[in-house]
Amino acid sequence: MSNSAMFPYGENNQFQCECTAHLTVHITKQDGHNETEEFYCPRCGKDYKARASMPISDIQITPPLLTDPLDRKMEISSYKNNLERKVEDLSVEVAQMDQRRETLSVDEQRYMNAKESEIKDLQAQINRLKNMFARL
Ligand SMILES: [Zn+2]
Repeated sequence: MSNSAMFPYGENNQFQCECTAHLTVHITKQDGHNETEEFYCPRCGKDYKARASMPISDIQITPPLLTDPLDRKMEISSYKNNLERKVEDLSVEVAQMDQRRETLSVDEQRYMNAKESEIKDLQAQINRLKNMFARL
């Protein structure tokens, strides 16, 4: 299970990312040809999914991305640091649960699995941020 949001049908979808950026995403659909396509916030690298017949590449962002590479690098670093802190906290929580794995209730196991997949998603987002940083 991924923590990424499934996107509703429609041509131009507008929404606010958790990084506060406003995104306008153009989604092409064709009956019988739609598959789950992933796309990312150009600012923070958060992943989203939508049913579409073509890869989703037309993403507009407001306000626009910072143009000064140094400013942008600082912004990316701060997103990355926040996510790394989140991963650390979640990892501590998962490790504590893992120590008493055999005594976990079904609900606790489900909770732990959800946290583990959240960690994976966050690590993927961190890697996207690292790539954005490297390309500047
Ligand atoms: Zn974002």
